[in-house]
Amino acid sequence: SKEIVLASRPDEMPKPENFRSSTATLTPINDGEFLVKNQWMSVDPYMRGRMKDGDSYVKPFQIDEPLEGGCVGEVVESQNSKFNVGDIVLGNFGWREYWKSNGHGTTIVDAKRVPPQTYLGVLGMTGMTAWVGLNVIAKLQSGSTVFVSAASGAVGSIVVQLAKAKGCRVIGSAGHSDKIAWLEANTKIDAVINYKETDDLLRALSSAAPDGIDVYFDNVGGDHLEAALAAMNDFGCCVECGMISTYNASEPPAAPRNLANVIGKRIRMQGFIVRDHMDSRDEFIGDMIPLIDSKQVVWEESVVDGIENAPDAFIGLFKGHNLGKQLVRIA
Ligand code: NDP
Repeated sequence: SKEIVLASRPDEMPKPENFRSSTATLTPINDGEFLVKNQWMSVDPYMRGRMKDGDSYVKPFQIDEPLEGGCVGEVVESQNSKFNVGDIVLGNFGWREYWKSNGHGTTIVDAKRVPPQTYLGVLGMTGMTAWVGLNVIAKLQSGSTVFVSAASGAVGSIVVQLAKAKGCRVIGSAGHSDKIAWLEANTKIDAVINYKETDDLLRALSSAAPDGIDVYFDNVGGDHLEAALAAMNDFGCCVECGMISTYNASEPPAAPRNLANVIGKRIRMQGFIVRDHMDSRDEFIGDMIPLIDSKQVVWEESVVDGIENAPDAFIGLFKGHNLGKQLVRIA
């Protein structure tokens, strides 16, 4: 079984030489176990944190060990009565062709209603991140003005559409004209800023939101957070989901320089980890299905073929190569 191992820890931007392809020998399954052949795996920005050594909210990847992450595959052998051959399952053993399980941390998904890889995106971790951030953290009210960074990405594109479905005014930022064109053509987004083509993000944000913003859904940190704090209305909320602009930094970033705004404007700023909210998974799926069926929520996938190309797909996240959810098709 082919797998991708961590060859070395990246200093700044991850490079292909930080990864190595390797072959593991499959041992027979024992009583209570089953074997899964992966069809799809996810690459996610949070994996960059796991490539660093030291304490974080998830334990670091180990050198010469296979990486891990969300994956969907088919049960091909089973000695577990709850998991049958042919079942499509969601697990956390991406970056490899096959994995064994006793069922712990593995969920059977309904792949008849939506394609299986949907459980890595809009109905999976990234979709749920958008849903938790808006509903649980921001407690979003209709009529609010929402600003979301990395708006065409896996999380951001769902944030845009969930906030529109709630009757909000939504402003996004993205780093490429193709991404902006996709948002304008496929979502009801009110305005999009190409942050790479503006030298004054705050001015662009203020002209898109002349009455200020009530919620900032932060995927980027740095200058985006600084602009959001400056444009925020009194009693607004910063949902701290991610800070991708800082993940490859070797020195701590300086911005936001205007953090004191949280006092004067009584801003609520709250970080969250989607994993803490798994009790709400059924409610999340229940909310999403009608939005998907009514096409109020649509999504895009960027697909790379072959497990050997997974490192490139991962590195591409930090270069803005993906539109929507970045996936790797394994089989
Ligand atoms: P995306 O699909 O949004 O992909 C990453 C995107 O980030 C890129 O396409 C790029 O878009 C943008 N980006 C990359 N580097 C920079 C930079 N230096 N400055 C500004 N934008 C940049 O990824 P996800 O949707 O999976 O994740 C989005 C965010 O959500 C991440 O910060 C991630 O860590 C976080 N997250 C947090 C979770 C939680 O539980 N708290 C769970 C899941 C994700 P562009 O071309 O527009 O720049």
